[in-house]
Amino acid sequence: MFLSEYFLPTAKESPSEAKILSHRYMLRSGMIRQSGSGIYSWLPIGLRVLRKIEKIIRDEQNRAGAQELLMPTIQSADIWKESGRYADYGKEMLRFGDRHGRELLYGPTNEELITEIFRDTIRSYKDLPLILYHIQWKFRDEVRPRFGVMRGREFLMKDSYSFDMSFEEARSTYNKMFVCYLRIFNRMGLKAIPMTAESGPIGGDMSHEFLILADTGESQVFCDRAILDYSVSDSSIDYKSDLQHTVDKWTSLYAATDEKHDKSQENVLGDKLISARGIEVGHIFYFGKKYSQSMNARVSDRDGNMVSVEMGSYGIGVSRLVAAVIEAYHDDNGILWPPALAPFDVGLINLNVGDQASSQMSREVYQKLTNAGVEVLYDDRDERAGVKFADMDLIGLPLQMIVGPRGTKNDEVELKERKTGKIMKMSLDKALKKILEG
Ligand code: ATP
Ligand code: MG
Repeated sequence: MFLSEYFLPTAKESPSEAKILSHRYMLRSGMIRQSGSGIYSWLPIGLRVLRKIEKIIRDEQNRAGAQELLMPTIQSADIWKESGRYADYGKEMLRFGDRHGRELLYGPTNEELITEIFRDTIRSYKDLPLILYHIQWKFRDEVRPRFGVMRGREFLMKDSYSFDMSFEEARSTYNKMFVCYLRIFNRMGLKAIPMTAESGPIGGDMSHEFLILADTGESQVFCDRAILDYSVSDSSIDYKSDLQHTVDKWTSLYAATDEKHDKSQENVLGDKLISARGIEVGHIFYFGKKYSQSMNARVSDRDGNMVSVEMGSYGIGVSRLVAAVIEAYHDDNGILWPPALAPFDVGLINLNVGDQASSQMSREVYQKLTNAGVEVLYDDRDERAGVKFADMDLIGLPLQMIVGPRGTKNDEVELKERKTGKIMKMSLDKALKKILEG
């Protein structure tokens, strides 16, 4: 992408209502524009990041055996009346009617709709277990939308729903999603800690929120310091195998959100207990027959008896994650994207577009890298070097290649690692090799 042609409205300042750093950097780096309270447009560079997050989630969900579908944003009130949540959901639900006077709503979540799809299509235990998911916009009329996309009213969520015949099978599905979530966040370079969370109507221990520790987080959390050293292995995982031991390993260390905090742990753990703020990026939840019973989602078991299915739901805040990643990775000059999420791999800065040799070299570099599948943002604007450096640092691409009149004489460029600020002068060949070989 040539920056002179790219829609990237960067700004030096951000509006004063942007209270947290991720919100300020997202506005300043031209990722989003507010269009109403808690409602945002995603501009090209922001959308690129959102799509990268989606892709990682899809990859890992598919690997775990979940199947993607796409449900609509608009739902009929009827199914919510069946489940009993139409009245309960309250003011967070955006309700409206169509020209025929039918009651509609903008979906805040999809348990009812997926249960309706399931009960109309699945009849037999032979079709289970089943995990379905989609990545779709939600609307919740939050009392206090704030912090940009962190707590929006319209936001993008990945929500999965599982169907099983028995509690044991539901637990095994829950474990799959638990491990899958660890892998998803790990691939994004995030340390998301699974914490015991409010379990709802069924009780039990199968409800975990995944939180990233950050001072700006809205949740108060407590955990054993040792859990910070845990990491999920990158090696291949067999989702057909029993994952209970992996889940047990993580849940054996204390970690809870404040609603579930057990004060006695303060004495038990002493100095090892961390009390911190956290950003909730995901929530997995087993709720048994809550919807299958109220909405009559039953299948025949081996003996031909009709039984209500066991269900769970599993959410990830896709748009919130963009902000959460920035809260975790930034410095005073801007964003520090983890390579897997960066909107482009390399920022190519041509220091002097008036200089023919520099421009020629830059274009050659651009072609070579682009042909090799590297995503390059080429700053070919006629701007001062200071402006170019500041913009490139702000948008936070992991690597910058700097081409200037002095270097072109001996085929030299500079490579700058955004995270460390380290600048290395080297031959063009070596620089290209370094980028291509990682
Ligand atoms: P919260 O406690 O933050 O309101 P929630 O418990 O209402 O979250 P869920 O219903 O579990 O959230 O939704 C799944 C995920 O969607 C959450 O873990 C969070 O990452 C994300 N999410 C929820 N509400 C919002 C919002 N208003 N804006 C952005 N993301 C959200
Ligand atoms: Mg909420």
